[in-house]
Amino acid sequence: MAGPFTLSPLPWAEDALAPTISQKTIGFHYHKHHHKYVETLNKLVEGTRYADMPLEQIVRATVNGKDKEQKIFNNAGQVWNHDFFWRSLTPKSAKPGGRLKDAIERDFGGVAELTKQLAEAGKEQFGSGWAWLCSQNGKLSVEKTANAIDPMAKGINCLLTVDVWEHAYYLDYQNDRAKYLQEVLGKLLNWEFATENLEKEAQPIRAAA
Ligand code: MN
Repeated sequence: MAGPFTLSPLPWAEDALAPTISQKTIGFHYHKHHHKYVETLNKLVEGTRYADMPLEQIVRATVNGKDKEQKIFNNAGQVWNHDFFWRSLTPKSAKPGGRLKDAIERDFGGVAELTKQLAEAGKEQFGSGWAWLCSQNGKLSVEKTANAIDPMAKGINCLLTVDVWEHAYYLDYQNDRAKYLQEVLGKLLNWEFATENLEKEAQPIRAAA
């Protein structure tokens, strides 16, 4: 069905992350789960003030909503989170560089400690949710959120995320979320995307200086 929101294309081929994340998992995750959130969001916003709003603005406007607004939040949040998650992954994962590398060393002591904390956040998230690397005024932090919630909804700058809903790993790792996290965090993180997001936060600070 037509609507204001569309399923964003994946930034790589559906088999590009295999064997860490199989083509079958990406197929279900993207074409079924992610697509369904887009379709449901389009139905829910029809005839409402949200129909003409950018996605980020909808997420921020409905994060504390009830009833229909909560349903809109759940689907808008999940569309934004999945768009962000796909871009957080790459089959050509290179080490963090430049300003990001310096910030990771300053705030975590190194990439190994950062990925360890991301793995812990993902494991500790009870039920469905997300693990995040965020920055606030240039300071990095690891966060975890439940269901469709994201730190962006509260104005926090997000650098990377990992989906820890069961649909993200069950076909490849069954119940072993820890193994999924170890593999994805070790092999697929897109540090260039994280650097771009860190720079986005830095720009207004530089402009004001
Ligand atoms: Mn998902």
